[in-house]
Amino acid sequence: MTALSEEITALCRSLGACDVGFFDTPLELGHGITVAVRLSDAIIDEIDGEPTLTYFNHYRSVNALIDHILLRVGLLLSANGYRYITVAASQSMPNLGKYRGRFSHKMGAVLSGMGHLGRNCLFLHEKYGPRVRLGTVLTDFSAGVKRETTDTDYICASCGRCVSACPAQALYGADFDPGNPDAPLMDYRACSEHMKKAYQHIGRGAVCGICMRVCPKGHESRRYGNK
Ligand code: SF4
Ligand code: SF4
Repeated sequence: MTALSEEITALCRSLGACDVGFFDTPLELGHGITVAVRLSDAIIDEIDGEPTLTYFNHYRSVNALIDHILLRVGLLLSANGYRYITVAASQSMPNLGKYRGRFSHKMGAVLSGMGHLGRNCLFLHEKYGPRVRLGTVLTDFSAGVKRETTDTDYICASCGRCVSACPAQALYGADFDPGNPDAPLMDYRACSEHMKKAYQHIGRGAVCGICMRVCPKGHESRRYGNK
């Protein structure tokens, strides 16, 4: 790991990130940095059949923190002579497709070696499961490191709780295939339309969280600190 990548990691952790990863990509500036921030177990555990107003506020607060961390990383990269593009924690780019962002945080996190995707179509961090939110900085800085996930036990194999719990029947129950990362795992339209219709009174239909709440990989997360 280079001195700058160590500085970036220390900066992110000092600002609240639980994990930082580096990856290469053929897209944009050639490299990327994934920042993960943990969600509150106590707040997620309150989700019971529908999201809560507390979760909606938490979701927005964590997104704002991630966006701040991304900018701080970008400024550090810039000060060291590198270019950067911050990819917001939650921002759709309608010109790229209705439910797409500029860059898939989930794919960046997989490439960073932090974990893999679950049948709930969420990123499952090797320690914290789906109870993290992600952000990405694209950059021409290469950290020159390749981390392999230590989580080789693909937990979805004997599960399917998220598929059964989804009130929109939006999850296909398919396993993520790293060799075919664009294969669809869910019906984004069904998910979005259900949230808008059923949870308009909670965060204007922008959050749900049920498929995160039920995932046993997330239940394990309370065993870990951030270090
Ligand atoms: S609830 Fe079960 S099937 Fe769904 S993502 Fe979590 S471990 Fe995988
Ligand atoms: S967020 Fe809610 S509606 Fe969307 S896939 Fe998960 S459980 Fe289903």
